[in-house]
Amino acid sequence: MNQSELFAAGIAQLPEQIINLIARGAVFVINHSGGKDSQAMYLMLRDLVPAAQRVIVHADLGEVEWPGAVDHIKATTAGEPLHVCSSRRGLLQMIEERGMFPSPSQRQCTSDLKRGPIERTVRAVTRERKADGIEAWGLVVNCMGMRAEESPGRSKLTPFKRHEGNSKAGREWYDWLPIHDWTTGDVFAHIAAAGQSPHWVYAAGMSRFSCCFCIMSNKADLTTAARLNPDLYRRYIELERSTGQVMMMPSKKHGRQTLEQITGVMAGEGAIV
Ligand code: SF4
Repeated sequence: MNQSELFAAGIAQLPEQIINLIARGAVFVINHSGGKDSQAMYLMLRDLVPAAQRVIVHADLGEVEWPGAVDHIKATTAGEPLHVCSSRRGLLQMIEERGMFPSPSQRQCTSDLKRGPIERTVRAVTRERKADGIEAWGLVVNCMGMRAEESPGRSKLTPFKRHEGNSKAGREWYDWLPIHDWTTGDVFAHIAAAGQSPHWVYAAGMSRFSCCFCIMSNKADLTTAARLNPDLYRRYIELERSTGQVMMMPSKKHGRQTLEQITGVMAGEGAIV
């Protein structure tokens, strides 16, 4: 299919609100972590939303992010401008200062490291559009790559909704999850169909991206990350020891466990890939 056929096929499946927002000149903010879901979402949006209405934003997680995330985004977005933002404090510093790890129920790491910096970037971008005299300067569709299949919590998310908190000061802001109903297979297939590959960590055994060690990770991902990134792994273990806390929530089966107990990889073990 050529570009216009792809557009016609894709747009036929879109909610009416999205079609209207494209027509009204809304800016579609593509939240790009460098992971497979962001990559597939970008490719999907590239075929639907005119280039002048696309803005790619990456929240740089610094030392806790997989190496090469920004390079991977640049390599797979055909040289489109990329806005890289970051929080004032990194995750490890936050844990050190608070004396505790973030919890899956609160997820303050997500708001501090990702949502906050990205929303500040979007506000700056809309101010620039206003200064440039663009009529739809305050019309924003914030696109995120969460999928229902990932977790029960994500399956309950509403794929499209107006964000009341951000719809002020002349802005009209919507949150959209364009690939919410996609399977993992759909994601990898979409990337392959575009002639691209996902970031190398998937071939190395990781199922998820973003922070190398995530409070939501499963044992397999933690173990793979411990082997791929032993220096960073040691930092997390040192934080567990200095704070007297553990990073992962206790499980029903195993109770409270340190990272070393979960993964079986001791701090100081070299990379065993
Ligand atoms: S990837 Fe995990 S640890 Fe990192 S910010 Fe998101 S929820 Fe927190």
